[in-house]
Amino acid sequence: MGQTILNKSTKKPMLLKISLGIIFFFLILMVIGIALLNGYINDKSITVEETLISKGDPQKLLAIFAHPDDEIMVAGTLHKLAEDGVDITSLYLTRGEAGPTGNLVPQEKLGAERTKEMKEVAKILEINQLQIFDYPDGGLQNEDPAVIKKTITKAIQKSKPSIIITFDDKLGLYGHSDHLLTGKYVKEVLVDDAYTVRHLYQMTLPQPMIDTALKISTTFKERYPKNPEDGLPKPTVAIKMASEAKEKKAVVEAHKTQWQVTGDVQPLHDKIPYWLYYRIFDREYFTKVELNSTP
Ligand SMILES: [Zn+2]
Repeated sequence: MGQTILNKSTKKPMLLKISLGIIFFFLILMVIGIALLNGYINDKSITVEETLISKGDPQKLLAIFAHPDDEIMVAGTLHKLAEDGVDITSLYLTRGEAGPTGNLVPQEKLGAERTKEMKEVAKILEINQLQIFDYPDGGLQNEDPAVIKKTITKAIQKSKPSIIITFDDKLGLYGHSDHLLTGKYVKEVLVDDAYTVRHLYQMTLPQPMIDTALKISTTFKERYPKNPEDGLPKPTVAIKMASEAKEKKAVVEAHKTQWQVTGDVQPLHDKIPYWLYYRIFDREYFTKVELNSTP
């Protein structure tokens, strides 16, 4: 009898120890895996900053995009800055009415539906002013540049931002003409007159992320230039945003009609839990453009 009691009492702690050991082993493996993947897709030579707005400047940001959902790329940064008390205005030149409907609404109702989705996103990201214009989606190249630049100028004069976030003026992320023209017109306006704007930040990606996108994103495969010289501008600053993972995931999901395309800017986001995904893709990248008014 005494023998049996002894066996039972030694077996249990033993099993517990082995189980804990196995759990611990897999946790360590996961941490190593995250660190390796994180190192694989990021460029650690790019300076990580806490914010994009200097402490002494008015904490006001204007983000200018072409379509509802373009903000996904920098959603972590926007939410992080909003939480820090930055007043954010977000401007969209089109309603995105030419995009895929996700089989959720008829094409003629897509513009209205995406406007609704954008209002939800503005709540998630704590965007204070949302402006959505009705320039034709996919058709900015047919519009008078002076008219679009006037819209941009008015938004700058009204919101008086210290910084502007927009597309690059070289490629438009992957060669989309609406994106490219948005970046180009914003820069042209600021070169003429920077108003209150101290710095322009163009959304961009580091080379390892571009290389990964070229392997797994259809859009990048089809449209990104083959010659690296023609590619995106090199980032000069990164913002860490793993702390904003929940909100970024919520933004991606709020663009309900766009489920077929969000994978292009967030590859594999629907295959990996968000808290893990944004520990790997834990930073958003920008190129800081110096303006004439910059002291
Ligand atoms: Zn877009």
